[in-house]
Amino acid sequence: MRIETKCIQSGYEPQNGESRMIPIIQSTTFKYDSSAEMGKLFDLEKSGYFYTRLQNPTNDMVAAKIAALEGGTAAMLTSSGQAASFFAVFNLAGAGDHVISSSTIYGGTYNLFNVTMRRMGIDFTFVDPDCTDEELEAAFRPNTKAVFGETIANPALIVFDIERFAKAAHAHGVPLIVDNTFATPINCRPFEWGADIVTHSTTKYMDGHDTAVGGCIVDSGKFDWMAHADKFPGLTTPDESYHGITYAEKFGKEGAFITKATAQLMRDLGSIQAPMNAFFLNLGLESLAVRMKRHCENALAVAKFLESSDKVAWVNYPDLPGNKYYERAKKYLPDGSCGVIAFGVKGGRDAAEAFMSRLKVAMIATHVADAHTCILHPANSTHRQLSDEELIAGGVSPDLIRLSVGIENVEDIIEDLQQALG
Ligand SMILES: *Cc1c(COP(=O)(O)O)cnc(C)c1O
Repeated sequence: MRIETKCIQSGYEPQNGESRMIPIIQSTTFKYDSSAEMGKLFDLEKSGYFYTRLQNPTNDMVAAKIAALEGGTAAMLTSSGQAASFFAVFNLAGAGDHVISSSTIYGGTYNLFNVTMRRMGIDFTFVDPDCTDEELEAAFRPNTKAVFGETIANPALIVFDIERFAKAAHAHGVPLIVDNTFATPINCRPFEWGADIVTHSTTKYMDGHDTAVGGCIVDSGKFDWMAHADKFPGLTTPDESYHGITYAEKFGKEGAFITKATAQLMRDLGSIQAPMNAFFLNLGLESLAVRMKRHCENALAVAKFLESSDKVAWVNYPDLPGNKYYERAKKYLPDGSCGVIAFGVKGGRDAAEAFMSRLKVAMIATHVADAHTCILHPANSTHRQLSDEELIAGGVSPDLIRLSVGIENVEDIIEDLQQALG
């Protein structure tokens, strides 16, 4: 099946007389004929459902669709994108370990790594995604357990050189984790470029309608944990909390990562996505391919308009000829990048605020990447915890305005921007 068809059909195949739509299994628990049978599930001897804190059939059908879209072997939904990023890294690294991350990542992920996960004893080195090979090489340590980056950085719109970072990670025997939220698998499939694990904030384009917060982790099934057994004892040595199961042996390369994340992290931390939200997410996925195409067409037209305006200081959109990442975007995102544009209004911070207050079609919202056109000034909102140095290291200048172009008629969006620019 081609990707547009997978958006509609993957993850759930109704049998004779069953509901055409993915059923919402709105149940915390599941009934069994005998304790012995339920016991097999607890021992991971059989797969099945017993308690929705760990797994739910609705979630698994939707996760399977996302796995199909990404070309992965296994996936799980989480309650948010933050939970997905946390689980993906914490499934590999613990106190005393080290992780390398691109410095241009979503502000929430940066805080998660730089503040909260550091408090758990995990050390992070942030590298410029355009650093030299020597700088990247120097960031690795014997206790490095993963490398992390974002396909298209939110909100800096820097396109990540997935292939290069994957090669570096693999040369050091560790996986590359890529947050593919902005590109979505419609526009980029990081596994095709060597990434090992993909994460998503499904809250963005996948849901696409401002409806449900959620996240997803997908495993490529390609990373050979056993070949680097000493680095990943959590996957390659017996888990005493599951009667001595060794995940990489019992579930293989294809299933070990997600099974461990479900069996340990979901069990203990309980960040499951509500089945109802998974249902909403699936509705969004069905139209994802159509919407992404429209988002990209609209955004390119808006970016060209902004570039032509004498009220605008600068425009950053990877698909705009002349953009620093144009060539890289053509390689990784040949069908378009995303609907998000960053730009600066002449006159700095105050002019930016005045411009934003005059908008009527574009709404001021702490959101991005959905059907509605929305706009945000990160230095005054999402990124306000960061110092000016941290902002600039993250690719966010203090005058940066993030415009998420929706799927309305593009003429209405452009006219609105035009009247607000004055
Ligand atoms: C929004 C976002 C997140 C966090 O996701 P939530 O669903 O808000 O928790 C992570 N990564 C990127 C790129 C995002 O845009």
